[in-house]
Amino acid sequence: MSWLSFVLLCYKSTFILSQSPPLLLLVSFDGFRFDYPQLYGPLQHFSRLEEQGVHAHSMIPTFTTATFPNHYTLITGLYEEVHGLVSDQIYDSTTNSTFQISGNMTNQWWPFKTIWTINEQRPEGRSGVIGWPQNQIFVSKFEPYRKERSFKDSTDQMLNWFNDPEEPINFGAIYFPEPELTGRQTGPYSDKMNDTIKLCDNNLGYLLNEIDRNSYLKQNLHLIITSDHGMEQINGTDKPIYLEDYVDMKKLKAFGTETVLNIFLNSNDDINDVYRNLSQIPHTTIYRKQDIPARYHYTNNSRIGNLIIIVDPGYELHRRSFHGGIIANLSTIHGNHGYDNQMNSMKTIFYASGRQLRDNFTLSNTATLHNVDIFALMCLILNITKCPPSNGSLANIQPFLKDPTRVLGIIEKDPGKSQDGSMSLVIYLLVLVSFVLILIMAVVWSGVSFRNASAISRATHLDPLTIAEQNQYKFTQINDMKLNRTIGDDNL
Ligand SMILES: [Zn+2]
Repeated sequence: MSWLSFVLLCYKSTFILSQSPPLLLLVSFDGFRFDYPQLYGPLQHFSRLEEQGVHAHSMIPTFTTATFPNHYTLITGLYEEVHGLVSDQIYDSTTNSTFQISGNMTNQWWPFKTIWTINEQRPEGRSGVIGWPQNQIFVSKFEPYRKERSFKDSTDQMLNWFNDPEEPINFGAIYFPEPELTGRQTGPYSDKMNDTIKLCDNNLGYLLNEIDRNSYLKQNLHLIITSDHGMEQINGTDKPIYLEDYVDMKKLKAFGTETVLNIFLNSNDDINDVYRNLSQIPHTTIYRKQDIPARYHYTNNSRIGNLIIIVDPGYELHRRSFHGGIIANLSTIHGNHGYDNQMNSMKTIFYASGRQLRDNFTLSNTATLHNVDIFALMCLILNITKCPPSNGSLANIQPFLKDPTRVLGIIEKDPGKSQDGSMSLVIYLLVLVSFVLILIMAVVWSGVSFRNASAISRATHLDPLTIAEQNQYKFTQINDMKLNRTIGDDNL
């Protein structure tokens, strides 16, 4: 075989490979607090994943730290005030409708494009979702949540979809309801939690072993293991606090959870009276909507009430109406979430692996990772060049990448997000040198046109300048995101 034939063969192979979108599996273990691996470790399989990929000391969820809002954030990269799923129980005054986990969950509550629908909008992009906390999902493969379904069963189904000979998926998402269920029943510190964390570790081990047994998946599949929030121990279960004991309920509507309530006044004339009454509730902080601290990113949406009650860690605020008029059986609840997202107990886990990510890398506890950042990381892994804007920071996920130049665009556009200016210069020089080398190679291999040489390097990730150019569009979009937009503003 001549050298020219060899080069052409390589080009053909890499071109075919480049037509197949990268593979990514996202797994959420609900309510997995960031320090469970330390509290209940060593965990064999979480440690194994740590070594073979990247890992963050902790990840900060969005406020409110509730299940449905944070699962929607993971797949859109948006704050709750932006995507509008502002609680696990929501009142929408514009349509006079209510969102409830056990009731109304029509598609109107999920108007934004998600990572799996964006993936489906390109040739050969197919997504599969099992049990994600959401209503009907319209992707190539979908199976709704079933409480009794085992993790093993979900894993087998998902990997079959990846291996489908006719229509394989390239993106998958699995939801598993533990350790949240155990956390609510027993709190984060219990023998039962120890058992549940070991179960989650065994489940992860099953998934990793099944991937390793399949050379195609072992070589190509990227994996993200994460969660929606942490878990806090509840203190005051013997003396429940009821909203109705402090305020005239005829003056308002209350929607939310036991840890954050949105109060909608029937008349704005009552705001000072109601604020005064609510201020008497122990172990809570009351905010007028316009006074909510900016760090919560929880103001600019009509589904957020005139007043917001945030309960102190370890306590709950109940509504008799929410429990059907009967006294809540609080003896069965020892853990909860939804509190301030900066609290350690609300922080959660992040692990990832795959050939685009570094090996055995841990993001230190002085660095910050938010769950709004994960959407952009998934866009990068999946090579999606037209991802919609998000609230995430690409600077936060840059350390995970084997090729950091992929975030070059945003660093140049927004120096404020780059903590080290000299690092940007080094990256720039690397890009320049790589480009010159590619150019020289193209000239030397005179049998192949420069265009073809460039195509080869694109397929094999040797052309950081091209990647940077592609991503600059996306990063600029993300960087230009206006946080105060409301639902439907950009018709995503
Ligand atoms: Zn949850």
